[in-house]
Amino acid sequence: MTDSNEQHGVVLAGLTTMRVGGPAERMISPATERELLEATQRVWAEGDDWVILGGGSNVLVADEGFEGTVIHIVTRGIVRVGAPSGVVRLRVQAGESWDGLVEYAVANGWAGLEGLSGIPGSVGAAPIQNIGAYGQEAADALHSVDFLDYESGRVQRLPATELGLGYRTSVFKQGRAGLVLSVTFDLVDVPIPSEDDGDDSGDGDDSGDGDDSGDGDDSPADVSLTLGQPITFPQLASSLGVVLGARVPLAEVRRTVLALRSGKGMVLDDGDPDSVSSGSFFTNPIVTENFARALPAAVPRWLIEPEEEPIVVPLPELGIGVLDAQAAGISGPLPSAADPARAGAGADAGADAASLAARPPVVARTEDWSSPPAEPSAADVTLASGPLVKLSAAWLIEAAGITKGFRLPGSAAAISSKHTLAIVNTGGATAADVAELARLIQQRVSAQFGITLTPEPVYIGFD
Ligand SMILES: Cc1cc2nc3c(=O)[nH]c(=O)nc-3n(C[C@H](O)[C@H](O)[C@H](O)COP(=O)(O)OP(=O)(O)OC[C@H]3O[C@@H](n4cnc5c(N)ncnc54)[C@H](O)[C@@H]3O)c2cc1C
Repeated sequence: MTDSNEQHGVVLAGLTTMRVGGPAERMISPATERELLEATQRVWAEGDDWVILGGGSNVLVADEGFEGTVIHIVTRGIVRVGAPSGVVRLRVQAGESWDGLVEYAVANGWAGLEGLSGIPGSVGAAPIQNIGAYGQEAADALHSVDFLDYESGRVQRLPATELGLGYRTSVFKQGRAGLVLSVTFDLVDVPIPSEDDGDDSGDGDDSGDGDDSGDGDDSPADVSLTLGQPITFPQLASSLGVVLGARVPLAEVRRTVLALRSGKGMVLDDGDPDSVSSGSFFTNPIVTENFARALPAAVPRWLIEPEEEPIVVPLPELGIGVLDAQAAGISGPLPSAADPARAGAGADAGADAASLAARPPVVARTEDWSSPPAEPSAADVTLASGPLVKLSAAWLIEAAGITKGFRLPGSAAAISSKHTLAIVNTGGATAADVAELARLIQQRVSAQFGITLTPEPVYIGFD
């Protein structure tokens, strides 16, 4: 398997952003799409355990490493393929850098990915959890995925509509095994506003000839003026100084998103110890509206669409448990930020989080917490129907008494000093340190709110 750069005993910590994890029994790093396809098929035919590793920014690799083959994705290449007018369709190899792609799109004046600036990792991983930030997600621009299916052993072009893309999820997260070879995106080729647009001041150059100013029709278009997609995320809108729904030049959106992310330790930066992480360690829990109604009034919550920042929406304290509320069929729209008249109605500022702990934890699972964390939320949500509500995992963690900088005695894993949702390796942490802190967080939040937080990173090599 010489064409696949086969190696043995590579320590995976060096290939992950959390910088933890033991050796891979075998690792292959095929350089081209064809080699990747063929090498993967050979690995599958051998029947050994295997796992795919992209940029290592959303995994937690066990200290024992991985007994089997790590298929490391390093294929590169971006090609523009045919598309309807106004659309720029790019087919991108799985091993391309995600942020490199965003930078490339912005530099060319193509809209659709700018809000996803600064997310680490590879393009092939983007559809796996449908990466998202600042009001955009991969799904918004995703056209299709070229996928080597483990079941059939064949390559299929899966349209975005068949990928089950949702909040940090996809069919791949839900168990469809295989390899993303390439991802095709549809970006918006926005016409660049001309300097003459709307200019009726009469001072334009209407001489028709003799224009040697260098800003005439023949000069290259200034792509930095190209407008991005409408801004839908309040914090981003406020940093940009615009109203929600406004459109802002792509380069400005990218610059602002990168600055916001840096402030939270969410851009990989050798000079920022808080970026030695796997990003947000838990997803924001999604619960039924009825369940949300039984939470203390102070718990921030928001309806799933459109994506908004968490807001504190006081709800009536029902005085009954979640099961009772469901049995009683209590429903109806939640107050939302867009409906300030309702937001204060029935507030019970005195609702006490501690009193809730006495209630039966409806969605909590009784797990052996010495094992790797479970991924309960999808199953839990399907237990009940009705409108769904997103809660702020960061808020729940802080309310459960775990604050920024928290660490267990003797552990080198800590909560980021900038962002409660990130677990960071402060230097010399083991995977066990990280997993232990994650379990503690889950336990505390579960005990207090009856909610089991779902880890975002994928655990590799844990029993
Ligand atoms: C500082 C920081 C900030 C982050 N911010 C965000 C954010 O804002 N939003 C967000 O959504 N995520 C964020 N993340 C998480 C992470 O960057 C993304 O999930 C990213 O897409 C992971 O890419 P990767 O190549 O590193 O995947 P890896 O970590 O290597 O793999 C993640 C999973 O995808 C699978 N996988 C990878 N490549 C392929 C492939 N080609 N085919 C099939 N399966 C594959 C792996 O097997 C694994 O299960 C952040 C992470 C960090 C460290």
